[in-house]
Order: sequence, then C-alpha cells, then structure tokens
Amino acid sequence: MPIKVTEKCVGCFACTNICPTKCINMALNDEGFIVPEVDFTKCVNCDKCTETCLQQKLPSMNVPIKSYRLLHKNKEIWNKSTSGGAFSAICSSFNDDTYFCGASFDENLEVKHIIVKGYGNDFNKLLKSKYVQSNIGSVFTEIKKLLLSDNTVIFSGTPCQVAALKLYLGCIKYDNLYCIDVACHGVGSPKILKQHLMTIENKNKTKINKIGFREKRFTLSGLEDYGFLIESDNKKVIDYSDIYTKAFHNGIVIRSSCLDCQFHKKERVGDITIADLKGMYETFPKEIKDKFNRSAVFANTKKGVEIVERLKQEKDIECIECTFGQASKNNSPLYEKHNQKISDRRNQFFDMYKTLRDDDVDTLLNNYINKESIILKIWLKIPEKQRVIVKKILRKGDSK
Ligand SMILES: Cc1cc2nc3c(=O)[nH]c(=O)nc-3n(C[C@H](O)[C@H](O)[C@H](O)COP(=O)(O)OP(=O)(O)OC[C@H]3O[C@@H](n4cnc5c(N)ncnc54)[C@H](O)[C@@H]3O)c2cc1C
Ligand code: SF4
Ligand code: SF4
Ligand code: SF4
Repeated sequence: MPIKVTEKCVGCFACTNICPTKCINMALNDEGFIVPEVDFTKCVNCDKCTETCLQQKLPSMNVPIKSYRLLHKNKEIWNKSTSGGAFSAICSSFNDDTYFCGASFDENLEVKHIIVKGYGNDFNKLLKSKYVQSNIGSVFTEIKKLLLSDNTVIFSGTPCQVAALKLYLGCIKYDNLYCIDVACHGVGSPKILKQHLMTIENKNKTKINKIGFREKRFTLSGLEDYGFLIESDNKKVIDYSDIYTKAFHNGIVIRSSCLDCQFHKKERVGDITIADLKGMYETFPKEIKDKFNRSAVFANTKKGVEIVERLKQEKDIECIECTFGQASKNNSPLYEKHNQKISDRRNQFFDMYKTLRDDDVDTLLNNYINKESIILKIWLKIPEKQRVIVKKILRKGDSK
C-alpha cells in the first residue's frame, strides 16, 4: 500500500526519492507546506514508500558523547554564519573533493537542498539558517550515487531530513557519509513567507532580489542577530522586527508535524548536532566577555567526536568542551517537546489563515505578533461549529 499522509508527515521527500515508478508528486497543502500526493494509476503497490516513511519508523539515535561551545574566530566567516560558525568550521576540516549538501535559496527565493563540491564560493550558499522548510527534491537519490562511487558526503539539515536520508539509504552503513543535524524547533511555511515577501514588494513597489535571516549588528547593548535582510534593486534593508521572523521563532507558522516532533529530545540522529549557544553569558560568566555569539556543538557518534576533536587544534577556531547541560541551556528542542500553548496558538493561527486572501497574511501576522489582536480574540470566542460557517462565507466572498 502507498503512504498515507497524516499530520505527522514531515515533508521529507524520502517517499518520492524511493518510489520506483516516480508516481509521488509534491504539492502545497492549505497551510502552504509541501506534502506528497500519490498518482494511483501508476502505483505498483510495492510498499517501498511506506517502509521508508518517518510516520512509521525512526532510524537509531544516540545520546551526545561530548558537548562543546564553538566560535569561528575568522570574523568574515562568523558574520556569514548564524551563530558561531560551527557548520563552516566542521566542513572546512574536510578536503576539496568532499560533497556538501544543505539548504540554499534559489533565484525565486525558495529554499532547496543542493549539493556543492568543495569549500569554494558555492559553499557559501549553504551558510546561514533559512527559516522556512527546505525542499529536498532529488538530493537523496544523488547522494546515494555519490556514496556508491566512494565520494565523501556531508549532509546537513533538520533532524527529520537527516532521519529521512538514513531511512532512504536503508540498513547499509556508509563510512563516507557524515550527517549534521541542526537543533530545530520547527520549519516555517514556504507559502506564508512568499505571501509576506509579496506584501513587502507591493508596499514598496519594488522587486526583492535577495533575503536573509539572522543578520548581525552590534549595538551599545550588545549583539542583535535576528535581522531580516531584504535587498531590492535600489535598496538594502535589515529589519530587526520583521513579523514573519517573529512568528517563526514563536512557533506560530511552523508545520503541524513540528508540534509533536519525534526529535525534540536528547538522543540525536546526526553524527554531529549544531545549535545556538543560548544564555552564554549566564552559563559562562567568567569565560565569555566579548559580544560574539557562539554555536553549541554535540558530537553524537565516534565519527562525530573525531571530527570535532580535530577542530580543537585549529588556531582560527575556539572549540571548548563543556557539559550537555551548559551547551543545551534554554534550548528546548534539544531536550523536550513543545508545550500545549504553542500548539494551540499555532493551530488557531492556521485556522484563521485558511480563511484569508494572499494580501491579508501580513495583517494576520501583525495582529498575532504585535498586538493581542482584537480580531483574534473575537474569533476565538466563536464556537468551533460557527467558525466553520464563517469560514465558508468568507471563502465565498473571496472567490467572487
Ligand atoms: C528551520 C530551523 C530551525 C532552527 N531552530 C533552532 C532552535 O530552535 N534552536 C537552536 O539552537 N538552533 C536552531 N536552528 C539552528 C541555528 O539556526 C543555526 O543553524 C545553528 O546555530 C548553527 O549555526 P552555524 O553558525 O553553525 O551555521 P549556519 O551558517 O547557520 O549553517 C547553516 C546550516 O543550516 C542548514 N540549514 C539552513 N537552513 C535550513 C533549512 N531551512 N532546512 C534545513 N537545513 C537548513 C544548512 O544546510 C547548513 O547546514 C534552526 C535552524 C533551522 C534551519
Ligand atoms: S516519507 Fe516523508 S514526505 Fe513521504 S509521507 Fe512519509 S513523512 Fe511524508
Ligand atoms: S507503493 Fe511503491 S509504487 Fe506505489 S507510491 Fe509507494 S513506492 Fe510508489
Ligand atoms: S521540528 Fe521536528 S518535524 Fe519539524 S522540521 Fe524540525 S525536526 Fe522536522
């Protein structure tokens, strides 16, 4: 039987990559996330998709063996990275024949996983977190081919993407594959980000050519590192109070499967886990005096430990062992699931979102983030049954 798509589907593309007849296509659901759709006329009932699906099973995971805090001392690399530049530091310890796979913006500002060879210019496309779900496309199939021809591959992504790659590859262990998972509280809706960008374009009568999350700047009170970069032909703006960014970090625009994520725990799926080092001044009051944010790094397998231990010798890298508790402080995706409050707010948001036109999304985001919205309060007072009727009426109005 082919896969059944439930709220637990993480959109990992393992099923599309494994299907021998290529009869699983990806489409957007009504929350703007990618989900698989089976073309039953071409399905041969081979069960391969179901056997590979994360909704059914998980690969083995490991409790971190060693934990570290890390800062890339090359300020250009640090600035191009989200936190302390752990991803760049890890990758730079491999030779130029290595293939690196990670998330990158394409020319339409959509996020896709790509594979680049070596630590050259294209490698920079993988740097910095893109706070929206990345489209895996066919990279699992390409990675398998590279591994079978004895190439070394570093795969980086959310824990569910790493788990999906492992299930796709099956029980064969590839010594030449290294997996890095990012601590992940959720992925944002690609459609909502697109609608948000459209609204900015319409408002400013301009075309956005480049965007970026987590831009950094120093202020008198320290580092601000949650800037949203918007670059158009004639202007470059960095917005430190962008509403999409805030909604993402508050868990409002995340995928339904992220609410009950199977990877929100201490056991990790990658050889190495990278994360923000949160509350670092509180945890290391004597050791950290400068304003540079750091990464938390967890080496979860023997392979992972070997790589991170090598970094300790590099003069450009400050890599210091600490306890798991210190490296994971205030970072809940590393040890516990989301609470009910996050689920409720997120579900209420999407309930309203489904009734809206494209150009109303920013108003909803704004109401949700900046004010305890009056509209929202009224909406939540309406009983569920009546809400369905209101939604139908609003949708009819929309199609006129
Ligand atoms: C969706 C998402 C949610 C996150 N949530 C948390 C969190 O709750 N707590 C926390 O501590 N850290 C979180 N992170 C990780 C954090 O943002 C940094 O990636 C981490 O601090 C490492 O930073 P760095 O400086 O080493 O490398 P960076 O320069 O950030 O390296 C980028 C790495 O992130 C990967 N990546 C970027 N965007 C995506 C994407 N959309 N999907 C999959 N992989 C991607 C790239 O492939 C690359 O491996 C999240 C990252 C993402 C992408
Ligand atoms: S393999 Fe991944 S994308 Fe496919 S149904 Fe399962 S969870 Fe969803
Ligand atoms: S059962 Fe086989 S053919 Fe059918 S969708 Fe799944 S993988 Fe494809
Ligand atoms: S929160 Fe969990 S399910 Fe959601 S993207 Fe991250 S790892 Fe995947």
